[in-house]
Amino acid sequence: MKRIAIVEDNRDNRLLLSAIIDDRYELIEYATGRVALDGIRSDPPDLILLDISLPEMDGTEVLRRLRADPALARIPAIALTAHAMRGVRERLLAEGFDGYVVKPIVDEEELLDTIARLLESGVSPASSAMPAVAPAVAAVVTRPTSPVQAGEQPGGQPDGAK
Ligand code: MN
Repeated sequence: MKRIAIVEDNRDNRLLLSAIIDDRYELIEYATGRVALDGIRSDPPDLILLDISLPEMDGTEVLRRLRADPALARIPAIALTAHAMRGVRERLLAEGFDGYVVKPIVDEEELLDTIARLLESGVSPASSAMPAVAPAVAAVVTRPTSPVQAGEQPGGQPDGAK
C-alpha cells in the first residue's frame, strides 16, 4: 500500500482527510512543519499532502526544504489551502507543488484522482528517473476547476481578511 504523509495542524482537517483516504493508502500524520520534515527525512512517504498555513514553518518553506534534499526532492506534494483564488494556485505550482486542493474539501473524488495521478506518474522516491513535475502539473492545471463544485460553495473565502 502506498504511503501518504499528511501535514496539517488542524485536527478536524486531518480527521476529514484520513476519512477520505485511509482505506486506499497508509497515512502518516504530522501536525507541524518541523516535525514533518524530521519524519519525512527518516521515513519518506510516496506522496505528501501539505497544508500551507502551519505554525512556525509554513508549507511553502517545508516544500522548499524537501526540494533541496536530493533524497526527498521528487516526492509529489499537493498543497492544501483555504485560498481558492487563481493567482494562489499558479504561485503554488510555480513554487514546486505538484497539485493543489482547496479546503474544505468538497470533492473527494478530485482529491483521490489527483493523488492517484501523481502516484502513477512515477515521481516517488522509489523511481528516480523522471523529471520532477511536468506530467502531473499539466494534468492538474488543465482540469476544469469550476468555482462551484457539485453545487456547493468551495471553501475559499474571498480573501477579504488578508
Ligand atoms: Mn493550517
